[in-house]
Amino acid sequence: MSQPNVLLLGPPGAGKGTQSSNIVQTYGVEHVTTGDALRSNKGMDISDLDVEYDTPGGFMDAGELVPNAVVNEIVKTALREADGYVLDGYPRNLDQAEYLDGITGLDVVAFLDVPREELVERLTGRRICDECGANYHVEFSPPEEAGVCDECGGELVQRDDDTEETVRERLSVYDENTRPVIEHYDEQGELSRIDGEGSPDEVWERLHTAIEERT
Ligand code: AMP
Repeated sequence: MSQPNVLLLGPPGAGKGTQSSNIVQTYGVEHVTTGDALRSNKGMDISDLDVEYDTPGGFMDAGELVPNAVVNEIVKTALREADGYVLDGYPRNLDQAEYLDGITGLDVVAFLDVPREELVERLTGRRICDECGANYHVEFSPPEEAGVCDECGGELVQRDDDTEETVRERLSVYDENTRPVIEHYDEQGELSRIDGEGSPDEVWERLHTAIEERT
């Protein structure tokens, strides 16, 4: 079989980024993540769409969803170029899910399930290396020296949208828009529910087993 097409669903802070890296290492697939793609294009001029903000960054800093027209195009281009992928951060509403159904076939749809209180704690304590993108947590996985990356010595920063106010907004946007996406795949009988609590290694063991069962 060619490389698997994996969709990783879950709320912000569920560990999709960490587990995507495991999938990439194990299966040699492409990591397609709309969050990173949009962060690299925060200042792109989208004023022709005549929407609330003139750039993706306006929506992101408010914790809102970037318009479908922008995000769908990013995903279509990325998937066309990939031989197997793990898709993370998309689809985030039903329109995106239906668009995705029309452009690709999925082998595995996995949902990382984590309780709400733990998500807030994970996100507000998250720190990211400015240089290499390595992830830390001030309490759960601190670097050896505060504010400095163990891997490359880069500076650790908080994402603009990981402040408590924006985190709460992102979680309520998730409840309203993305929960129906989970139901969409559940109804099709495609969803593997994974307990997302515990260490990254424990979650990976469960996720890996679920992927093996589906491929
Ligand atoms: P993430 O890194 O996945 O948490 O995404 C950060 C921000 O990027 C989100 O809060 C949204 O503003 C935007 N974003 C990422 N993926 C999508 C998507 N599929 N649809 C709309 N907006 C998105």
